Amino acid sequence: MIIPPLGLYIHIPFCVRKCPYCDFFSEKIGTDGVSDNYVSALIKELSLYSESCSSRTIESIYIGGGTPTLLNPKQIEMIMNAVDRNFRLSDSVEISMEANPGTVTERNIRQYRSIGINRLSLGVQSLNNDSLKRLCRIHDRHEALQAAENVAKYFQNFNIDLMHSLPGQSLKEAISDLDDVIKLNPNHISWYQLTIEEDTPYARNIPSLPKEDVIDSIYLEGYELLRQHSYEHYEVSAFAKKGFECRHNRNYWTFGDYLGAGSGAHSKMTENNRIHRQSRIENTCEYIRNISEDRISNIYASDDYIANEDLTFEYFLNRLRLFSPIPIREYEDLTGLRFENIRHLFEKYETEGLVSLREDYIVITCKGQLFINQMLEDFI
Ligand code: SF4
Repeated sequence: MIIPPLGLYIHIPFCVRKCPYCDFFSEKIGTDGVSDNYVSALIKELSLYSESCSSRTIESIYIGGGTPTLLNPKQIEMIMNAVDRNFRLSDSVEISMEANPGTVTERNIRQYRSIGINRLSLGVQSLNNDSLKRLCRIHDRHEALQAAENVAKYFQNFNIDLMHSLPGQSLKEAISDLDDVIKLNPNHISWYQLTIEEDTPYARNIPSLPKEDVIDSIYLEGYELLRQHSYEHYEVSAFAKKGFECRHNRNYWTFGDYLGAGSGAHSKMTENNRIHRQSRIENTCEYIRNISEDRISNIYASDDYIANEDLTFEYFLNRLRLFSPIPIREYEDLTGLRFENIRHLFEKYETEGLVSLREDYIVITCKGQLFINQMLEDFI
């Protein structure tokens, strides 16, 4: 098993209010912002990994949430200084941060850039005021456009998150949203379908969603529009101009390693020919208390190693999201397993037109991209 590239994920699990479709862990923030206690706990947690990561280089950092832009620039600077103190960063490190249009000003955006954040991901979700209201977002169209304009002013590299197939949305409205986002000229667009997740307000009270044939047309017209504007569809929901794929997310999908920090964050680290996984408790008060009282083992909700028999599923669960050819060597290097043992499955997929097997790599066909889940079932 080889040691893959390493990314660092920093979790800021706070939001102004919970959106009814969201199943990510985040807590509603109080009126005085993200507490310095959380930032201090995060900084202390980062220092715990300094020694074990001393031989490794961090290729990408992602500050995600929740709503990281609820941190003030000073707090972000403190976190970034702690990262610098504890880790070796690649000269070309990509440092992304998620930003919510309802929480940023031009001044903040300029400061994030000067602190060293070099990629911003703006969670616009829609540019239609009715849709934004139904999604209970805290921003409106005007604020989203203003935020995007400010981001474009200071960041050469930025992403816009946009959802489609929203409650009550027509084909025309979905394509108009996408067209408006393309006009903002981000070099990366995450365009994904709203799905109803368990244990969310939407799951308890399902809104009226577009019919299947409308959703199919949204996909077809949307893909074509993105293609016409030179956005390459490189992952299930990700589209990028040449050279602007998100390096941090790409590392997840190529089964790279990631170190997580913060309440609710996950890690996957290759160690001594095994893959170590940890998840941290989803409770910021408990997280802060345990860290400040040095009860470190209590910050982990789970701590285990991926069993050998699960490695193939775990690898393809991530890797099949990417549409680029899969080098057979990559599978063997990252799992320590032999491709020959599963070749018969891919030969079967080839007869079904889902993949094309070459000497050194596997190509997923257009048809195969629609049958990813069926293929994954064989690896469970
Ligand atoms: S702002 Fe983002 S993370 Fe927070 S509740 Fe809404 S969708 Fe979830």
